[in-house]
Amino acid sequence: MGVNDGPVISVQGVSKIFGSGSQTTHALHEVSLDIQPREFISIIGPSGCGKSTLLRIVGDLVDTSGGTVTVKGKTPHQARLDRDYGIVFQTPVLYEWRTVRRNVELPLEVMGAPRAEWGSRAEAMLSLVGLQAFAGHYPWQLSGGMQQRVAIARALVFNPSILLMDEPFGALDEMTRERLNLELMTIWNQTSATVLFITHSIPEAVFLSSRVMVMSPRPGCIERVVTIDLPRPRTAPTRATPRFFELVTQVREGLHEDPAVGAGRDLIGDGA
Ligand code: ADP
Repeated sequence: MGVNDGPVISVQGVSKIFGSGSQTTHALHEVSLDIQPREFISIIGPSGCGKSTLLRIVGDLVDTSGGTVTVKGKTPHQARLDRDYGIVFQTPVLYEWRTVRRNVELPLEVMGAPRAEWGSRAEAMLSLVGLQAFAGHYPWQLSGGMQQRVAIARALVFNPSILLMDEPFGALDEMTRERLNLELMTIWNQTSATVLFITHSIPEAVFLSSRVMVMSPRPGCIERVVTIDLPRPRTAPTRATPRFFELVTQVREGLHEDPAVGAGRDLIGDGA
């Protein structure tokens, strides 16, 4: 089998224990998951169930305590060196003293890409996220949603094959979030990226994904996989279809499967 066959990301029996002695936290318990090329996978689960930890393990930001992860047939470390990842966090982490364009150029600068390419590449990414008119602005002049679009443009500037997104819209109001969901679909259609997306919003997960992985409370494991068979392209009216509501219900039921914990309690009012 060549490295281009099979899953882009393969997580096999991954566990994670933080700390030692009496100070241990069992964050993940034998999580297995294969992500195929061009899939859009969402991970949803109660706070503290290990979603971020899983994403960070895939992105080579945290080590595992057991199990294996391969990314395009390589270790996550090698994948990071090969610039296979673009990462977007909940807070956009922009440099206030750099313009929007200079923020998007930053990875190219740091990694030593030819200077002549910086401008055109940044312009292309800003146009992808609809912010070309704001290239000369500073981050503090933009709304929260616009700042997050800058962070997405920056994550895509290397044309990564994998986009890791850790609750990128979690801090935004519901209307902005829905708009950015639509924009993210448009952006994703124009890239060939495979996406691993973390959220605690059920409708967001259903709207965006090819499959939704529902995690149990800590130590997190994947409790249910819901395949999202909504046709693409998905647009605003998709959210009003009967199938959308059926799938939202399936994900919600998955979150409530463990009656010992109010798993979905903080998720239930999330806009569905
Ligand atoms: P989620 O993203 O689902 O909210 P996290 O992956 O952030 O959950 O965290 C899972 C558990 O692991 C939590 O109990 C958290 O406190 C713990 N944890 C996460 N990172 C660390 C760390 N660096 N050191 C110790 N504990 C951690």
